[in-house]
Amino acid sequence: MRPVTRTLLLLTLLLALHSPAHAGTVTLAYEPASREDVHIAEMLIESHVGDDAARVINVLNCLPRNVVIRFGTEEGPQYAPAMKGRPAEIHFPYTFVAELQRIFTRNGYTDSPQTLERATLDAVQHTLFHELGHAIISMRGIPTDGGEEDAVDSLATILLIESFENGGDIALNAADAFSYLASEEELESAIPDGTMPSDDDRATMQPNIAAALDEHSLNVHRYEAIACLIYGSNPERYSFIAEDIQLSPQDAANCVDNYTRQSEYWFSLLQH
Ligand SMILES: [Zn+2]
Repeated sequence: MRPVTRTLLLLTLLLALHSPAHAGTVTLAYEPASREDVHIAEMLIESHVGDDAARVINVLNCLPRNVVIRFGTEEGPQYAPAMKGRPAEIHFPYTFVAELQRIFTRNGYTDSPQTLERATLDAVQHTLFHELGHAIISMRGIPTDGGEEDAVDSLATILLIESFENGGDIALNAADAFSYLASEEELESAIPDGTMPSDDDRATMQPNIAAALDEHSLNVHRYEAIACLIYGSNPERYSFIAEDIQLSPQDAANCVDNYTRQSEYWFSLLQH
């Protein structure tokens, strides 16, 4: 089991001292849970996973307006901009947390209830920061030429690594969830000979299979991009990642540069 200590690093506090005052804060709300979801709601509340995410963003002082993280909604996870007098919200269904638990259970995180709970909460934490990233980008009008989804995945990973003692491990559990989704999609996409199809094959394919393959490559890409950042943040501690995703020495060096560049970019941006 991975360590569970979650201490905010001095870095975020130091940064906060230099931040201009953005008036927005993150608060939490929990919708009543149905009988099947009561244990999920209890796990979220008792673990303080939402409080931890809110505290990091509030200490950074980087939101111009308030955001409510609302657990137990029907839809999501998603960022819902403010409308008609209601503040901006992050919608986070209990059923999504249950789905994460199922993904980890199917993939052998069954040594102990704690192992399963830790992995699930880590993936929840990354997803919360991903959605908070959408809030920050939307409210601050931050341009994302590489695509907003990639940008918020990077931001979420960097915030975890820089804010929690074991942040790389938290992000790695989230990346693992995307990798499991990718391999499950691979099995489900029913490719006759088990090889990835060419673009010509795709053109004649049933739309649902083509869509499943797109989703698949999206999850593979997410896993690799997050894993590269984690590796780049601490190549010694995460040397096993370089083997897992078969990084060439040049790729490995690029991951280190990439982490430095992206973390500097995001922190200088969040401070202004
Ligand atoms: Zn997103």
